Amino acid sequence: MNAIIISIGTELTTGQCLDTNAQWLSQRLTDLGGHVQSHVTVSDDVAKIAEAFRLAMSGADVVIATGGLGPTPDDLSREALSLALKEPLETDEIALKQLKSFFISLNRPMPPANLSQATRPKGCEMIPNPRGTAPGISHSSHSKHFFLLPGVPSEMKAMYEQSIEPLIAQHSSGARTVRSRLSVLGISEARLGDTLGNLMVPGRNPSVGTTAADGIISIRIVARGSSESEAQDLLKKDVQEVRSRLGEAVFGENEDTVASVVGHMLLDRGLTIATAESCTGGLIAKRLTDVPGSSRYFKEGFILYHNSTKSSRLGIPADLIDRDGAVSESVARAMAEGCRAVSGCDFSISTTGIAGPGGGCPPDKPVGLVYVGLAREDKTVAKRLMLGEHLTRDEIRDRTCHAALNMLRLWLIESR
Ligand code: ATP
Repeated sequence: MNAIIISIGTELTTGQCLDTNAQWLSQRLTDLGGHVQSHVTVSDDVAKIAEAFRLAMSGADVVIATGGLGPTPDDLSREALSLALKEPLETDEIALKQLKSFFISLNRPMPPANLSQATRPKGCEMIPNPRGTAPGISHSSHSKHFFLLPGVPSEMKAMYEQSIEPLIAQHSSGARTVRSRLSVLGISEARLGDTLGNLMVPGRNPSVGTTAADGIISIRIVARGSSESEAQDLLKKDVQEVRSRLGEAVFGENEDTVASVVGHMLLDRGLTIATAESCTGGLIAKRLTDVPGSSRYFKEGFILYHNSTKSSRLGIPADLIDRDGAVSESVARAMAEGCRAVSGCDFSISTTGIAGPGGGCPPDKPVGLVYVGLAREDKTVAKRLMLGEHLTRDEIRDRTCHAALNMLRLWLIESR
């Protein structure tokens, strides 16, 4: 099944709005074994939309277009479809009735402009919209299917799942695509490429590819099979293979975050944690508490930004800060130990560093220098990170956060 996705709207072509509909639809069609051959984006221009519809209908088995079904003058998709099919617009009596009852249920009069939403080109069918006023429109001819849906993502998704996916699944060969994403920390993309080399050759099934963002590398594995179970078997084998080659560098799968993984480990073992943050300004505490249920293991977080608070809150000797500087291994250790003592937690994490853009003192203390401390009852460790002066403040804070939580994760694995 070849498919083309058309996204309509000047807000898309001017870059004001990101086209997430095409991404979502592409994934869903690919999952059904479809081949999405192109994405087309068109501004609110009736002739251009009609041209895009005509071209796509002649080139693909399935065309899904979104946007331009609202009641305002810049919503031109119905008219464009009428031009493309050379069929006049007519009112669909069932859609009109539904539209009227929608407004009655809201206890509001229906504005006359909404009447256009009950029209469709002759020979087309309406697709019900359970979430809004704009029904979709479908047209089928010679085993080719065209669907026009509203641009609002929540409406589009509900309508695709309710009315379009079952129809496409019926016509598909049974072939399926399944995917998984493994997340990796603490290994470079180049080393990862060497380790996974033969799995990443172009054209292989499953396909294995990597992308890097914020210090985390995502490994995307996509498997195609003539049935769901064949695709799942292929996927499972590759996931196991990648995990066995990369070992503990893989911290999670799909929606896992390093904070959620650490959280589950702490919870499983009945352990608690507190944080003492300087350069990350509470970001580690935020990430830990982003995880639902984290109150069962996260007790408290200190943001100790000024040197005086490092001493007054956690009892770090002022002369230690004077001697080694706030950004130092000894202060990171003292912060972690002080935080553990004050909070009474099993573990604590501390951060102190230079997030920039100013404040660096090269060569000894450049922007991007960070110390992370970890303390537990029997041991305290501190790690020096040189994240690089080229990174932005946000990137330095983000990477520190990932590195600190990953240190804790590896410590928890080691002490199992
Ligand atoms: P409505 O009845 O709300 O007018 P519509 O079919 O006319 O629906 P549009 O007016 O084209 O839809 O888009 C409504 C909103 O939906 C846009 O402002 C935008 O926020 C969002 N949207 C539209 N197209 C896309 C897209 N391709 N990806 C993500 N969001 C989109």
